[in-house]
Amino acid sequence: MSDHLSGTIVLASHNAGKLREIAALLLPYDVEVKSAKDFGLSEPDETEETFAGNARLKAHHAARETGLPALSDDSGLSVIALDGRPGVHTADWAETEHGRDFDMAMEKVWQAVQITGRPAPYSAAFHCTLCLAFPDGSDKIFEGTVEGVLVWPKRGDRGFGFDPMFLPEGETETLGEMDPERKHAISHRSLAFEKFVKVCFD
Ligand code: IMP
Repeated sequence: MSDHLSGTIVLASHNAGKLREIAALLLPYDVEVKSAKDFGLSEPDETEETFAGNARLKAHHAARETGLPALSDDSGLSVIALDGRPGVHTADWAETEHGRDFDMAMEKVWQAVQITGRPAPYSAAFHCTLCLAFPDGSDKIFEGTVEGVLVWPKRGDRGFGFDPMFLPEGETETLGEMDPERKHAISHRSLAFEKFVKVCFD
């Protein structure tokens, strides 16, 4: 199968923040972008213990169900003082019986770090694994990481998820304060996306 991607691609995600960012990154390319919602797809359980494992689960599910190439994103925040947690379980830290609450989740991360008694700065990284899966069962994996530190109190109301408590290395604004264009220039998702573009569009 040729590496060059054209036609329709399904974004195998139900996360509004990720969908917004990936759709914006795909805008310059000659593909029609549809979402998992457009096809009424269910969300498979993320049962793997790696970003790549979970990204594969989501992309293959969408590719099988739609007969189209599908792109998934599995991502998360790893905090050194927490030995890499929340990691692949990042979204779970936000779960409540009324849906996801990221203000609570950020508070939880900050409290967990305080309990370790370790001194600031608290190094952390956002990881993103993109999986492009095809209906024939093949796939490609692309990864990106942005390093930084946790800040508290959280700052900004842009972006999504844990953005307001993450200050990327060399920046003065958290991902929650940053202009979306700037986040696109440096984020874990954009770094993974650049690799995807090289293979699939260049
Ligand atoms: P999952 O990939 O569906 O397991 O969810 C990953 C979780 O990591 C998301 O729900 C967000 O909370 C968090 N996350 C991933 N990427 C970002 C980002 O760019 N900014 C803030 N939080 C993120």
